[in-house]
Amino acid sequence: MIIDALSTGTGQRRSSRDSIGCGPRSVAGILEKHGLNCRIRRAEEVLSKKSILQQFDHLAISAMTMDSPVVKTLMKQWQHRSRSSGRTIIGGPIASNPEVLRELSADVLVMGEGEATLEELVTRHFFEDPIDLSSVKGIAFRGANGIHVTPAREFITTEALSRDYMPSITRIIDYPAYQASKIYVEVTRGCSNFRRTTLPLRNGRQCSDCGNCDSEKLDVRMNCPEDIPPGCGFCSVPSTWGPPRSRSSAVIMQEVKGLLELGAHRIVLESPGFLDYMRGSEPLTDPCFPPANLDAIRGLLGQLNSLPQLVDGTAHIAIENMKACLFTEAVALALNESKISSSPNIGIETGSDEHFKAIGKCGSPSDVLTAVRIAVDHGMKPFVYFIYGLPGEDAESTKESIRMMRALSDAGAERIILYGFRSLPGSAFEGFPESSTRDEFGAQLRREAERVNRKKKTDYLGRVVQGIAAEPSWAQVGYTMVYPLQEGPLMTVPGGFSAGTMLQVRIQRVLSSGLVEGEIVREPELESR
Ligand code: SF4
Repeated sequence: MIIDALSTGTGQRRSSRDSIGCGPRSVAGILEKHGLNCRIRRAEEVLSKKSILQQFDHLAISAMTMDSPVVKTLMKQWQHRSRSSGRTIIGGPIASNPEVLRELSADVLVMGEGEATLEELVTRHFFEDPIDLSSVKGIAFRGANGIHVTPAREFITTEALSRDYMPSITRIIDYPAYQASKIYVEVTRGCSNFRRTTLPLRNGRQCSDCGNCDSEKLDVRMNCPEDIPPGCGFCSVPSTWGPPRSRSSAVIMQEVKGLLELGAHRIVLESPGFLDYMRGSEPLTDPCFPPANLDAIRGLLGQLNSLPQLVDGTAHIAIENMKACLFTEAVALALNESKISSSPNIGIETGSDEHFKAIGKCGSPSDVLTAVRIAVDHGMKPFVYFIYGLPGEDAESTKESIRMMRALSDAGAERIILYGFRSLPGSAFEGFPESSTRDEFGAQLRREAERVNRKKKTDYLGRVVQGIAAEPSWAQVGYTMVYPLQEGPLMTVPGGFSAGTMLQVRIQRVLSSGLVEGEIVREPELESR
């Protein structure tokens, strides 16, 4: 059994409820490739029905750092089941920190990219016999003398990513309401931002201004003499996943086609930066140059558009993350021509130029504002992400962020998304204190984001949005949660509808900055915005 514990925290997903990440299906793909029968279960399902555990021989859990409480509970349940044998593996972002093994008694922690490591474990019969784990790269395990971490595994090459590894398509049916969910299909892996923070780290290290971060030689950017992890200081993607590698359009097509044939309606092309798709030469460590490879992007989107479900409008493909410094007029035109909807999700994190550079971001806050203007001019609905509680945040950066939130809203940004800072293992900001809701700067930023987002939601009043029923509402008995098929807010409507039912919803009331209430309309007055 593969348990998808991603975003489950202490046992119940509060956010991203309509999302299905690609990690657990990738694990299933390796097991299927080697003839092992597997199923994926959401952590919530296992918690509510412990007897499920009896049906399986071995356990793999995919989780994020924040999910350690639920993983602890699941591991306990696994150990207490009547069948006591069986191997346990934990992977995903939670596995970046081998110290979690002190609390989670798994046999193996798969660190970083998991496919090749899992494949080696399977082919060396880890599930059947004891093997010498110290000779397997990219894992941590508990040995006689404490936690043992083996040397890191090389990143999977671009060729191998498409040639050797295909996430399971079939196992999408294991997810409740997959027909209504956003299903992530990996397009690129890794991040091209190999700039670094200039703030002093918790371990005392600090940038000595050697110039490598700006070198014209792409491989030189990979090395920092001060050993500062690459990328934005709060993020562990470049250090864990390396520079971007793109999957071929043929394998992406195969996966999307298979998912749509099984009844999926919403696909998201997963990438830390979609505009890195087939861009530049390897290692791609310059986040802003060369520009996006529009021929490759047009080719991929053109093929996807030819799928019958896209032609008849019963399925929708979205693109999310994009770097502002690559988002140009030409990119917007190409995306628009493709007719594949893109709500650029752009991370700004802070509105202050100085703070922006200090945390290691690429480009500038004004690049983000320009990208939002371009996107809106082309009819897109950009989402912009801020973080409060970051190292280096002060009264001035907070003031600049509030000013920038207003400017972005005036420029037409669809939504400001504000996260609290969490320190991630493997990131430059590992060990920094996490944000607190009592923090005054954070409170100021939250108030402004809430104000901007509520105002935006009122723009939807009276409009009709095409949605897909997902699950019963927790907050209102007799209501169903409805996800927008294309762009639009999360909705709740009176009545019970089975997952996957297409609905036309007229928005009537703003319930919060993230939720609206609507009524079902019979006529297909599809929102044209
Ligand atoms: S490579 Fe390290 S020391 Fe050199 S400029 Fe970048 S962060 Fe500073």
